[in-house]
Amino acid sequence: MHYDYVIVGAGLFGAVFAHEMRTRGKKILVVDRRSHIGGNCYTESIDGINVHKYGAHIFRTSRREIWEYMLRFADFNNFVNSPIANFHGKIYNMPFNMNTFNRIWGVVTPAEAQAKIDEQRREIVGEPRNLEEKAISLVGRDVYEILIKEYTEKQWGRPCRELPASIIRRLPVRLIYDNNYFNDPYQGIPKGGYTAIVEKMLDGCDVRLGVDYLADREKLSNLADRVLYTGAIDEYYGRDMGSLEYRSLRFEHKRMAIRNFQGVAVVNYTSFAEPYTRSIEHKHFEFGDQPTTVVSYEYPFEWSPGVEPYYPINDARNQALYEKYRQRAAAEPKTVFGGRLGTYRYTDMQDTVIAALELANKEVAK
Ligand SMILES: Cc1cc2nc3c(=O)[nH]c(=O)nc-3n(C[C@H](O)[C@H](O)[C@H](O)COP(=O)(O)OP(=O)(O)OC[C@H]3O[C@@H](n4cnc5c(N)ncnc54)[C@H](O)[C@@H]3O)c2cc1C
Repeated sequence: MHYDYVIVGAGLFGAVFAHEMRTRGKKILVVDRRSHIGGNCYTESIDGINVHKYGAHIFRTSRREIWEYMLRFADFNNFVNSPIANFHGKIYNMPFNMNTFNRIWGVVTPAEAQAKIDEQRREIVGEPRNLEEKAISLVGRDVYEILIKEYTEKQWGRPCRELPASIIRRLPVRLIYDNNYFNDPYQGIPKGGYTAIVEKMLDGCDVRLGVDYLADREKLSNLADRVLYTGAIDEYYGRDMGSLEYRSLRFEHKRMAIRNFQGVAVVNYTSFAEPYTRSIEHKHFEFGDQPTTVVSYEYPFEWSPGVEPYYPINDARNQALYEKYRQRAAAEPKTVFGGRLGTYRYTDMQDTVIAALELANKEVAK
């Protein structure tokens, strides 16, 4: 069988692109080296609980047409992300809002909170030289030390003073009693999990799992007129100009014979007392009442070749290297690059969907 497209990667980007092309009458083959579809959005049902195997995934968007696009594939519930932070056993609300400031300083009114923040921000004079100074210049030392410092150091594996100020552009501070993490008007979790969405998107496409495109690229490419590659761009070229750097994550999933372990979907651990950064209790995403529960712990660590890459490190060195790979990729006659790894940037699901729809329109216009 000859295809119009071979799509490398059955993640959200590959799936949206596949769906768009399929509905335009194209013949599609999707390959993924994992044993399942869905990429990092993959959910697996354990005891009737949809477990987010690669970290908590909360869909949100401010664009109505993107929300409506997703509703074609699933119903979404009314989950609102209100994570909490645990610092040495004390609980703080996130994102930083009046509940947080009341807990830290005992302040009650927005004016009192603002005065406290302003007083502490004054510690930094001149242009902040690193992430620590930048954070203190935005929210003051107390919030930095309780909720940012050790969490960030666990996440990036180096001291905040050695991290560039540019990692944070702004830290949202809310002077209202509101624990909703996101500002987007549309937010929720798909009923039945994300894998079911991707399954629907891939309807009518041939799918081969456990297939590494790079191990058999000539044969697979010859099966189609064009290729969409959503794997890592540097890996595509054998990293012959050098490796792009990433942070990686290890997930430890625990099934427990109790009904309710932590009382909330997401807990951030903001001190070094715990080696993990977050724990996720999946049933709370879908208001589950099963007799058992599944909790996942996230451990960040340094990426090395062969390890699953998660977060690109978009500093100057890596961006310059990516740009070189990007120019080479742009000259490929038959292959287009997309998705978070193909374009070396962190993208939320909404950005992933938007980018895949844009690429599909571009391909059709060719
Ligand atoms: C921990 C974490 C939490 C997140 N939380 C949220 C959230 O709450 N909300 C939100 O909107 N977004 C979230 N995201 C972002 C979301 O995961 C991405 O937007 C989305 O997964 C990107 O889809 P993708 O298809 O580009 O990449 P991926 O999901 O990574 O899919 C790429 C696929 O390509 C396959 N592949 C790679 N190389 C090859 C090869 N050589 N041969 C065959 N197959 C290959 C991989 O196996 C993978 O399945 C989160 C991401 C992470 C890491």
